[in-house]
Amino acid sequence: MMRAMTRSVDETRGLGAAIAEITQPNDVLLLTGDLGAGKTSLVQGLGSALGVGDRITSPSFTLAREYQGRLKLNHLDVYRLEQMDEVIDLGLPELIDEESVTVIEWGDAIVSALPPDYLEIRILLGEGDDDRIFEINLVGPRWSARSRVLQVALETFAGDDGESPC
Ligand code: ADP
Ligand code: MG
Repeated sequence: MMRAMTRSVDETRGLGAAIAEITQPNDVLLLTGDLGAGKTSLVQGLGSALGVGDRITSPSFTLAREYQGRLKLNHLDVYRLEQMDEVIDLGLPELIDEESVTVIEWGDAIVSALPPDYLEIRILLGEGDDDRIFEINLVGPRWSARSRVLQVALETFAGDDGESPC
């Protein structure tokens, strides 16, 4: 498990952009965390780093949206458990392909429908109002192969723990 920390929405967008640098076609990212945690903000940073020009908003009422950048960005928001069936109907496996990166908010409910490889990002609230803690798990060989580059990408988001006192 890797950890990162941000202290503002802009920093969270920056973290999303840093993660975009190591994403590849066929990738799946799973974002969990309460409402207001910063899931959509992270996707916004990821999207702009992928060259998405359109404003990325929460797709709550559409379940899935598609944005065009350097890669296609599929943005899914599974905000109710009942939507699990709808996600399966959407054909998640068909969304995941050579041209796209797929990001799913509220992913816990759909873990059983996921491919064997995905990056899990759990967002927790920190001490300050704007502090957010990111617990990141690399699931499957496609991601564990990138653990070193991910670590490097996260270096600037280490928070206080990562800094030496001198
Ligand atoms: P979610 O998609 O998880 O519901 P959003 O990204 O839509 O969350 O909203 C996050 C909210 O929290 C925004 O209003 C944002 O301004 C605020 N916020 C404050 N600090 C942070 C931070 N460090 N990272 C992300 N969002 C933050
Ligand atoms: Mg959201």
